[in-house]
Amino acid sequence: MHEDSGITTQITVVGAGMVAHRFVESLLSRDGGDMRVTVFGEEKRHPYDRVGLTAFFDGTSPERLELDRSVFDDPRVELFTGERVQRIDRKERTVHTASRRHRYDRLVLATGSYAARVAVDGARLPGCFVYRTIDDLIALRDFVASRRAQLGRPLRGVVIGGGLLGLEAAGALQSQEVACTIVQSSDRLMSAQLDLPAGRMLQRLIEDRGLTVRTEARTTRLDADRTGNVAALEFHDGSMHPADVVVFTVGVRPRDELAREAGLRCTPTGGVVVDERCDTSDADILAIGEVAAFEGRTVGLVAPGYAMAEVAATRLLGGDATFPGFDESAKLKLSGIDVASFGDHRGDTPGVLDVVYADPVAGVYKKLVLSDDAKTLLGGVLVGDASAYGALRPLVGAALGGDPAAYLMPEGGAAAPAAELPDAAVVCSCANVTAGRIREAVHEEGCADANAVKACTRAGATCGSCVLMVKKIVGTELTALGQSVPRDCASTSRCPDDSSSTRCVCRG
Ligand SMILES: Cc1cc2nc3c(=O)[nH]c(=O)nc-3n(C[C@H](O)[C@H](O)[C@H](O)COP(=O)(O)OP(=O)(O)OC[C@H]3O[C@@H](n4cnc5c(N)ncnc54)[C@H](O)[C@@H]3O)c2cc1C
Repeated sequence: MHEDSGITTQITVVGAGMVAHRFVESLLSRDGGDMRVTVFGEEKRHPYDRVGLTAFFDGTSPERLELDRSVFDDPRVELFTGERVQRIDRKERTVHTASRRHRYDRLVLATGSYAARVAVDGARLPGCFVYRTIDDLIALRDFVASRRAQLGRPLRGVVIGGGLLGLEAAGALQSQEVACTIVQSSDRLMSAQLDLPAGRMLQRLIEDRGLTVRTEARTTRLDADRTGNVAALEFHDGSMHPADVVVFTVGVRPRDELAREAGLRCTPTGGVVVDERCDTSDADILAIGEVAAFEGRTVGLVAPGYAMAEVAATRLLGGDATFPGFDESAKLKLSGIDVASFGDHRGDTPGVLDVVYADPVAGVYKKLVLSDDAKTLLGGVLVGDASAYGALRPLVGAALGGDPAAYLMPEGGAAAPAAELPDAAVVCSCANVTAGRIREAVHEEGCADANAVKACTRAGATCGSCVLMVKKIVGTELTALGQSVPRDCASTSRCPDDSSSTRCVCRG
């Protein structure tokens, strides 16, 4: 803030996505003092839960996906939706939209990413979609309904890209009764997270679910039928595959165009260069979220963006904070299929040891990556049973405190001892909530269940993958206090309603 009290600092945010919302929320929660915050969002909506977007296909309305609107009720905050910032004038310290010129003292870029398409002929034919915004999903749903009515038969869909998002999109198409094929250019699904055996195991689970998978298939062209709609894909080997609807999930690209035009430093591959304080090459401009490139990289996950939002808010309020680096832990959100990866899951650290448990009959593959002395957990991959994810992810970098194999056995989550988590272990990476903070919420703020902890700390409020662990910690602490433990899935390692991530009581 301005050292000179009495002068209002104008903080301007470009982009009104999840990370911008968290940034504003964080500023306000700490009583931002004498400031004015203006947020420009290109989408014609209030910020919404992009992570939970697929719930739209389960009937969740766009309104229900909205993030807490009360943030914008604060008289110090102003949100302009449907208004794209077209230019930054760094000399004048102004941003420009089609209808407005707006001054800033400090500018925060939170412009996120756009969804990429494969650069081939036909990629923009009617019937080809990306999967990024509520409007993308509305357009996809409407197309499927009208094309089915037009053709008078079930539709054949293709998702190009077999990563986390591709699998989620394939599940969404399937929920719309579209027979879906996932096309992956590499030799396995989720190749960024999984090694070959894990990828093969996942493919079996996906095929058991009624989805078709084609690996090592590179799309070279999309063809239209006589109506002009997409009708088929051609692969690099010349083979053709029919498709009435196509969804591209081949990665995201940082929206750094404003920053580039304004002369801010960007990486050659995309992303506004920031340091650990989220500062860009202009001292008045910060960048956070998916658009921000830290140590040369951008990451398409919300937790690092939230961590950056907290750093930026702290800094703009005169405090000091640094971004610790990317936590790339991820969990698949496809009902009935458990997949998670955390820490150094690829085993990039020199001298690592892998401990593997595989049960092909049960469709389970689990791997822990350990330090060369087999004591410290560095990362892991869980396919087919990710119940231990919530317990293991916070232990990355810490001693496992037991036989690593115990964590991999069936129902391994039960062996993961909540009480052993050090206070500093981050249980909820989305909201950066540690085990110590959860214990404090139980002991000092009277939280007696996971919902109360969520309300107090935000743990479990975003992706929900930590909720089981939160419940375990709450249960352990309540037991220690001699209080009764609520009867829910806290006592089991596996959620009893695990059939659907969106209906899961554990995940709220
Ligand atoms: C279906 C789906 C599922 C996902 N699941 C997960 C998950 O399980 N876990 C996870 O960690 N992440 C997940 N993600 C990724 C996660 O949603 C993103 O990491 C997160 O939304 C990034 O937030 P952001 O605010 O940086 O960017 P965005 O959410 O992209 O928001 C940026 C906003 O800025 C706007 N904007 C851009 N340029 C301008 C401009 N010039 N003027 C005004 N406005 C502008 C954009 O329109 C956009 O609304 C998922 C994403 C999708 C699409």
